[in-house]
Amino acid sequence: MLFGRKKRKPITIPSKQVKEWKYTTCNYCSTGCSIEIGLSDDKKIVTTRGHAGADVNRGKLCIKGLLEHELFESPGRGTEPLIREKHFETLEKTSWDNALDTTASKIKEIQQKYGKDAFAVISTGQLVTEEFYTLGKLTRGCIGTNNYDGNTTLCMASAVSGYKRTFGLDGPPGCYDDFEHTHCLMAFGSNLPEQHPIIYWRLKEALEKRKFPLIVVDPRVTMLAQFADIHLPITPGTDCVLINAMMFVIINEGLQDQEYIDASTQGFEEVKALVQDYDPKTAQHICGIDEDTIRNVARIYAKAPAAMSIWTMGINQSTHGSDGVANINNLNLITGNIGIPGGTSLSITGQCNAMGTREWSSCSGLPGYRYLENEDERQEIADFWGIDADFLPKKRGLAQTDIFPAIETGEIKGLWLIATNPMTSMPNTARIRKILEKLEFLVVQDVYEDVETNQYSHVYFPASVWAEKQGCHTNTERRVNLIDNVLPPYANSKPDFWIFNQMAKRFDNGKVIKFPDEPEGAFNEMKQLSKGTHNGRPRTLDISGMSYEKIIKARGIQWPYREEESCENNAQSSTTLKGTQRLYSDGIFPTKSGKANLLPIKFYNNNEQPCSDYPFWLNSGRVVEHFHTRTRTGKIGNCNKFSPTAYMEMNPDAAADLGIEHQSYVRLTSRRGDAVVLVQLTQRVPRNMVFVPFHYHDCVNRLTLGLLDPHSRQPAFKQCSVRIEHVDQAEAAKLNAERRNY
Ligand code: SF4
Repeated sequence: MLFGRKKRKPITIPSKQVKEWKYTTCNYCSTGCSIEIGLSDDKKIVTTRGHAGADVNRGKLCIKGLLEHELFESPGRGTEPLIREKHFETLEKTSWDNALDTTASKIKEIQQKYGKDAFAVISTGQLVTEEFYTLGKLTRGCIGTNNYDGNTTLCMASAVSGYKRTFGLDGPPGCYDDFEHTHCLMAFGSNLPEQHPIIYWRLKEALEKRKFPLIVVDPRVTMLAQFADIHLPITPGTDCVLINAMMFVIINEGLQDQEYIDASTQGFEEVKALVQDYDPKTAQHICGIDEDTIRNVARIYAKAPAAMSIWTMGINQSTHGSDGVANINNLNLITGNIGIPGGTSLSITGQCNAMGTREWSSCSGLPGYRYLENEDERQEIADFWGIDADFLPKKRGLAQTDIFPAIETGEIKGLWLIATNPMTSMPNTARIRKILEKLEFLVVQDVYEDVETNQYSHVYFPASVWAEKQGCHTNTERRVNLIDNVLPPYANSKPDFWIFNQMAKRFDNGKVIKFPDEPEGAFNEMKQLSKGTHNGRPRTLDISGMSYEKIIKARGIQWPYREEESCENNAQSSTTLKGTQRLYSDGIFPTKSGKANLLPIKFYNNNEQPCSDYPFWLNSGRVVEHFHTRTRTGKIGNCNKFSPTAYMEMNPDAAADLGIEHQSYVRLTSRRGDAVVLVQLTQRVPRNMVFVPFHYHDCVNRLTLGLLDPHSRQPAFKQCSVRIEHVDQAEAAKLNAERRNY
């Protein structure tokens, strides 16, 4: 038992001959735990521990962090660059020069033949920020394609879009410390104990000190829902209806913070008018939460001196993801819960550096939250990089989820995938397989050469992992932390930073733009670009006061942290190097008017629904032992041991109706495909729903539809329908055994 017991044996670390501890930051989820890696006398990695002095994790790590040091020499790591003419031939070893030259000339050939945008680049949330910034320079400034995006479109795009629509800028306004001050926490589609265990521990610790209501909105009885005071088992995809009904109650009972609304927001009358259509009496029939509970929760939230909302993929991975985020922001704005201790709208980010790519990669714009659509900002970046502003596109190109259909229709002919694995992560695997086969040229850059997508590559770049590199991550609460270089790159793998720099040399603008040799040089460029003003006010994403040295000393600094602040305090002890905990505390927002936008959010029902042919909702999510498509955690024995195979949670009553037994195999079928899974009977899911973890290859995404959110282009992974069929148990067991053969 991790929590709540007062008497326990002290935690001991087995005596391993640690000579030196090296500072770094976890490279899995966005919690941002500070880690120390223990090295032996002969510089071998022997163990990992949480950094006791770090604000985020205070010495704790979850199972993934505790075992992260096992990544360095895990099976399947890429050792040499590989190449082949056709994807069905065998990949052969080649030199870095040949791999890079071939890739550069193929990019140019495709661009000359079909146009600049016929070559696309898709990256990730897993690199360090300096690598993201450098990739942005390479892609926007040298290669010149506009079809450049990150796999963060699969997880965080709706949060980005919702924040921008409401506040005028991306960036979570709150922090973990808000748990210590809040009087009510509402979690939407966020299963913290399994997704972000250390954030959960922070919440649990705050709850043990001072009780406040925990309200969990989730169609499944998740681990967090089990600990909740009130669980709202909502009908999938109807969160907008629930929030509108809550606002109906709050506004019609006069519980809103009118003073804050008048001073800091615009659009209240429109929201007030819209929510009149969402009386809990009628809303209850759509969202599945009874009217009394809606009223009760609305009153608790509005009357709390400070209330906060958190959310994760239950909101983002929906056809209404961006609207869901904007509506959570609406709820917090009308109750005056933005920028105060314990009052916030905190998106719990997914990948370790999803924030870094949002801030600096230029995927959806230009570095430092600048827009391609803004002429002045295009000119500013072009001048800084020393190129002609006309080289930069005038508006954003395709998102990741639109790049694949553009390959399907022949608009895009070449693709560079960096630390992302669409063969497992994208909805409708069969379609993605067919799409990748159509590419004239695919380069895969990944730590592991056995990553599923590498089946279709023409060139493979072996990348270095995590602490074989140096650079920063930004976590969920805008805290910039450092990954220090602990080990040299494995075999002939190279840091992504090095790969981008080498590729830049092969393009004309790469000889004009300066590409620093070390990550810290890129960090210093980012610092420069983060200074100045936006809409007449100081830039929010300002990191100009930071340095690697200060970041390590503070174990992470939250932006904005301006040069002036850093100079004001020359003592710079670890307690004064904290940056800014909360955004918008002055009630002024980075919109043109300085006011936050209240947006009327109308519900529309466009999801695939359970029907007589496919009678079950299919829900998906994370298990604590694994991260994303298991390219890394699938290689760690102790992570794999606890979650070795794909399974399906099913309600025992529904199983009895179909004659399905616990721990038998079944075939799940949707309109897209099928998957064989092991049944786990549990009351966690309602009778008309099944749940399957999303980590496993050739499993849940063979079934998903993934309709796209119109604003964020994020897929609705969590809402589609399936039926359950019996299978031959011996055949299914054989298939399962094959899949477990790593
Ligand atoms: S909670 Fe997240 S950041 Fe912390 S150790 Fe676990 S995976 Fe790493």
